[in-house]
Amino acid sequence: MAISGSCFCGEIKYKINGTLIDATSCHCSMCRKAFSSQASAFARVNSDEFSWLSGENLLSTYESKTGVGIQFCSKCGSTLCGTNKGKVMGVTLGCVEGDPEIKIGKHIFVGSKASWETIPDGIPQYEEWPPKNT
Ligand SMILES: [Zn+2]
Ligand SMILES: [Zn+2]
Repeated sequence: MAISGSCFCGEIKYKINGTLIDATSCHCSMCRKAFSSQASAFARVNSDEFSWLSGENLLSTYESKTGVGIQFCSKCGSTLCGTNKGKVMGVTLGCVEGDPEIKIGKHIFVGSKASWETIPDGIPQYEEWPPKNT
């Protein structure tokens, strides 16, 4: 079963030959800006299971100093994925098509959420990073 995704204008499309892992919503001030939203909603992928199908030439990358970045469509502005040193490490849930059979499992950095946001009950919330459960 493959998962597919695309941007708002439809030029960029991707496919994941696997499942989404660890869906998370982050409410920090950087995610608010990066996703132009109250929070980010993303899931991890195995980078070797991810491939671009079309529109790769339209991708723009914004990378922070540490090599962690986001890639977005330069035509419509949809943020599609998160990268680490150029490798796709996760996708934004908003650009995934249909039901990827995963639900947001945690809200992180709720300590810095926007004053105007109300987070739904019933899902674990963490002030910052969740405790490591290894
Ligand atoms: Zn687009
Ligand atoms: Zn964040």
